[in-house]
Amino acid sequence: MARTRCAACGRDLLPGDPACLECGSGDRLVDDTDVGAAVEDSLNLKGRHGVPGEVKPYLRTTVKREWSPSRQLSEEAMRTFDSDERLYRETYWNLGTGEITFQKEGAIEDQGLQGPGGSSRPQPPAI
Ligand SMILES: [Zn+2]
Repeated sequence: MARTRCAACGRDLLPGDPACLECGSGDRLVDDTDVGAAVEDSLNLKGRHGVPGEVKPYLRTTVKREWSPSRQLSEEAMRTFDSDERLYRETYWNLGTGEITFQKEGAIEDQGLQGPGGSSRPQPPAI
């Protein structure tokens, strides 16, 4: 089972919570302790400044488990689109050690950051 926590204060959150109930932070961390089970597991998280349904999410985070052919290991990939900061961030973890294996970030508009293209290229959210 995936466990979602506030990135700021560490409080346990439900994946559907728009922000931390304790400190109001929209940043969150996801632990997936069930490493051996599912082959593919994905989770979509959104952060909002206001009430869901009234305010569009400014922060969209996607966490997905992926096999890395180049590194020969199963990794968890987190992609974040921050409409406020106009930032795109991509982080990969080694599921075994928790070590960050790859990380990049830049402006959402900077398409060159997201690689040469391909069907799996993530798109920024519609604003
Ligand atoms: Zn918090």
